[in-house]
Amino acid sequence: MPIGRKLSDYPNHMKKIIMEELRKKWIPDFKVLFSKESIEVLPDLLLELLEGRKKIFAELLETPKEKISFEIFEDENFLNYLFMLLNHYEWVNSSDVLRKIIDDFRPAYMDFSNEVEFSKPYYEMFIHFRDNCTLDVEQKRIIDLTIRNFEQSWIHLPEDKQSRLKEINQSMAKLGFDFSNNVLDSEKEFEYFFGTDEFLKEMPEDDLSVAKEKAIAEWKAWYRFTSDITSYMAVMKFCSSSEIRKHFYTCRNTKATSGKYDNRPMILEILKLRKEESILLWHKNYAENSLVDKMAESPEKVIELLEQIRERAIGKWESDLQEIRDYFSLESFWPWDLAYYSRILKEKKYEVDEKEVKKYFEYDTVKKWLFDIAERLYSITFEEIDAPKFDPEIRIYKAFRDWEFKSYFIMDMFYRKEKTSWAWADCLREKLKIESADNDPIILNVCSFQRWTDGKALLNLWNVQTMFHEFWHWLHVMLSESKHSWLNGFHVEWDFVELPSQIMENWCNEKESLKTFAKHIDTGEVITDELLEKLDKLQHFMTWVWALAQNQYWMLDMKLHTEEPPETIEELDDKVFNIFQDISLFTLEKESTKVHASFTHIFGWGYAAWYYSYLWAEIIEADVFSEFKKNGIFNPEVWNRFYSTILSQWARKPARELFHDFMWRDIELDAYFKKQGF
Ligand SMILES: [Zn+2]
Repeated sequence: MPIGRKLSDYPNHMKKIIMEELRKKWIPDFKVLFSKESIEVLPDLLLELLEGRKKIFAELLETPKEKISFEIFEDENFLNYLFMLLNHYEWVNSSDVLRKIIDDFRPAYMDFSNEVEFSKPYYEMFIHFRDNCTLDVEQKRIIDLTIRNFEQSWIHLPEDKQSRLKEINQSMAKLGFDFSNNVLDSEKEFEYFFGTDEFLKEMPEDDLSVAKEKAIAEWKAWYRFTSDITSYMAVMKFCSSSEIRKHFYTCRNTKATSGKYDNRPMILEILKLRKEESILLWHKNYAENSLVDKMAESPEKVIELLEQIRERAIGKWESDLQEIRDYFSLESFWPWDLAYYSRILKEKKYEVDEKEVKKYFEYDTVKKWLFDIAERLYSITFEEIDAPKFDPEIRIYKAFRDWEFKSYFIMDMFYRKEKTSWAWADCLREKLKIESADNDPIILNVCSFQRWTDGKALLNLWNVQTMFHEFWHWLHVMLSESKHSWLNGFHVEWDFVELPSQIMENWCNEKESLKTFAKHIDTGEVITDELLEKLDKLQHFMTWVWALAQNQYWMLDMKLHTEEPPETIEELDDKVFNIFQDISLFTLEKESTKVHASFTHIFGWGYAAWYYSYLWAEIIEADVFSEFKKNGIFNPEVWNRFYSTILSQWARKPARELFHDFMWRDIELDAYFKKQGF
């Protein structure tokens, strides 16, 4: 696309500073971009940039046919970049002012996206290009995918129906944004103060020290626990009062269900709009619409698979639960008791004490291992740089492959009150040229780990897996060899996007790899064979917990998007409760089963009727990992094949073909069931 405005075109001093920041080849300074002064001009600047985009798009449509080239379709620009940075900053440093700016700007932004997405002349340019120009393999794939998108979404619809689709898009974007914000706000409101340590005697020192620090920060004595996952799990595993655990459990499962944060009216609206959209596009329901081009083929097949998993998991559930009941002679047993008693059973019967295991996983040692393994497998090296950052805990690196600079890597890994407590990886800037300014990619990992007051951070095995997972997302994007952002790691088909990261979690369970990085924080001693043996015995311990808990969400997502949308909140609550109760063997309470109100993946993000992509990734991942397991988990031949057939390929081919290139066969379920111990 043509070059944007020059700096001298921005008479306003602050706008000029923001634009300069965006043009920088290295890391943008968030403190400058979103300072008090910048925020004042930001709404105006966003609109100006949008006007610029509109003009450029109008000119683009005038391009004479003989001048159509691939480059004119490449649409990286400062508006998208700035809006991306703004959204990211709001996620990790939430504030009402920023949120309002996003909220106010979004309708105009969506209008323009609609204009591009629904432009017939634009579609015809792609067709002309496909039919009359010479395309390389990557270009052909991108053009084919784009044309398919147009054709599946609206091109054959009459105009009145197109307008209705645009309206639906607009409303959905607003609803999704409000939905996520309500979850975030109601989460932030939750806190629990312990006035004594009466019920916290079993809790590890580091969790306690963090809770104490949080209490001091609020000027309240003793311990403060919040709703982020680390804090929540500390209570569920180590707090000896069943009453208090129940309170936490209930609050977590009823987030965003009351007062101004109640998300349920929005769910009713979203489900209705999705149904309407599917019918406009000639589908029975939203799930059918969503699965059109996915590996799983149809909603019926997904539901069948979920039922198969449920059946196998339940067999294991019964024997594991009986073991807990017998061991502790329990008469009643509730969902909020599960983490607590299984933790004690692990300690007493299997002699694995999580507090001791954690001592082998100090944050910096784990990070070093990840960096080392990236070097050993793919010749990647890192150099920490002193770039601008808005929090002292953030670390910024330059990453090189075979000494060639490839990407910036930001690690924002520790808890802040204003930060969303999920873990994720994202690409802030693609490696593409943005309006003629050459930019290097910026990829980041975000987690919410906790540090002790003395600066040390110990991770449990679940934290370590998360860290591996997000790091490998980064690596996947970084290793891509395509010139085009449309084909990069995160744009891979959804069937596949979680594969590289999920497969890496296996290296946290394998003895051979654990011995290379699990070192005791006090003695430096490598994890002992004895402890490894004990951990090995626990490999299938309570695997059904995860399988069934997730199964509830997968099924909920499928049923909400295949059945008729509920008319009232009560009907919605009933439906969700029935689905959950049907899968659970615990007796659930309706009052504390309102998880739909905080199910951001399907109502706030893009996972609707596709939440089970996580399951899909587990299935593919187990299958692919069996190949590593068979040949040795550090076998260079397998790692090279993984690189050449999958990591470097991005979305150049359909996911099923990528899988086939690596495995030389189609997907099989056996490895998944074996891994789960079902
Ligand atoms: Zn992931």
